[in-house]
Amino acid sequence: MITVEEAQEIIFAKIKTIDSSEIDIQDALGRVLSEDVFSERAIPPWANSAMDGYAVRSEDIKNATKGNPVELKVIERIQAGVKAKSVLREGEAIRIMTGAPMPQGADAIVLQEETEESDSGVVKIYLSVESGESVRVAGEDVEIGDLVVSKGTKLTPPAIGMLANIGMDSCSVYNKPRVAILATGEELVDLKEIPDEGQIFNSNSYALAAQVEEAGGEAILLGIAKDNTEDLVKGIKRGMSADILITSGGVSVGDFDLVKDTLQDLGNEINFWRVRMKPGKPMAFGMLGGNPFFGLPGNPVSTMVSFELFVRPSLLKMQGLKNIFRAKVNATLKGELLKSPERRHYIRAVTTFNENQWESTPLEVQGSNILHSMVKSNSLVLFPEYETKLEDAQTVEVILLDDPNINNN
Ligand code: AMP
Ligand code: MG
Repeated sequence: MITVEEAQEIIFAKIKTIDSSEIDIQDALGRVLSEDVFSERAIPPWANSAMDGYAVRSEDIKNATKGNPVELKVIERIQAGVKAKSVLREGEAIRIMTGAPMPQGADAIVLQEETEESDSGVVKIYLSVESGESVRVAGEDVEIGDLVVSKGTKLTPPAIGMLANIGMDSCSVYNKPRVAILATGEELVDLKEIPDEGQIFNSNSYALAAQVEEAGGEAILLGIAKDNTEDLVKGIKRGMSADILITSGGVSVGDFDLVKDTLQDLGNEINFWRVRMKPGKPMAFGMLGGNPFFGLPGNPVSTMVSFELFVRPSLLKMQGLKNIFRAKVNATLKGELLKSPERRHYIRAVTTFNENQWESTPLEVQGSNILHSMVKSNSLVLFPEYETKLEDAQTVEVILLDDPNINNN
């Protein structure tokens, strides 16, 4: 048996970043930037007013108080988007709105609330201000040549706002990896069919497709291959043009677990592993026609947990992300857990932050066929390989499953 980390190391060493394309920034949410973006503009491009008020020369009003106001002549009025025509001279003020460029000659803004303007075009200033007061300096957000969003950043709303801020309407992002998904199993029927006795719906394809999409990929459903070599070969060949091919089921030791023999017949370098984990254990990985192939176990929870640990980080790596793992926290275990040694258990649990600590409550039913244990949990408690008991209230390591952004740039 190999450890999860050994398997991950072998897999991730094979995963290369995918090509990139130029897309509209309106389509870029959640995509990963494939080049550094430098600004050709300063933001703001010129000094401007941070407030509605009056642009003044601070030296003109240095003695202004409520009881002894300074009177200035209002020579012009400007709103955002308008540049003052006049140059401010001694004894003058310009009425100015937030965002309007600072008039030449002015060095400070007095807030409207500290003034009173009469009909005769004279404004009383009740407060002295320092030079630079309420002035936004050119380049205080971004200077020309600044790196504003770096390669490998997952594009969030603020990052997209920043691209727009410097006038970019398109950007270069890594392509969405196309992931072909093939279910295997004689017992499977698709959702529009009616299962006979002994048959079940193919749920893995749909769960995997959702996991793929959540990880930024594009799922291609290849349907079901029955447990015969011909069907498997047909399905696998159809999936080989995708960037990644995933199968579920058929990698165990049963009489009809034919994925192994089929792949060997295709003449490919695929490794069949027994991974020191539960749920999951049997798994295949290798390169098939130049692209990664994952043969995941068939039990629905094993399929999804194996995807979490091996395929999801691979998809993130393909898309150029640096942090490819979910967030891990230390939590206080609520309840006791027992197991036999040798495999690491990934215990489905509900983890919440209470008062000042994380707390994890394992779900009662943990079978690898019990899909509702995934539905009702938001996290996986790590029960180490060689431990046989976790005590109530002890600290455990937990993978958080429901906060996909927290650890990805
Ligand atoms: P296998 O590894 O092929 O022996 O499958 C292990 C278990 O997972 C069996 O109980 C299968 O019926 C079940 N299983 C396999 N593939 C799927 C699937 N696509 N959807 C739901 N259950 C599946
Ligand atoms: Mg099967």
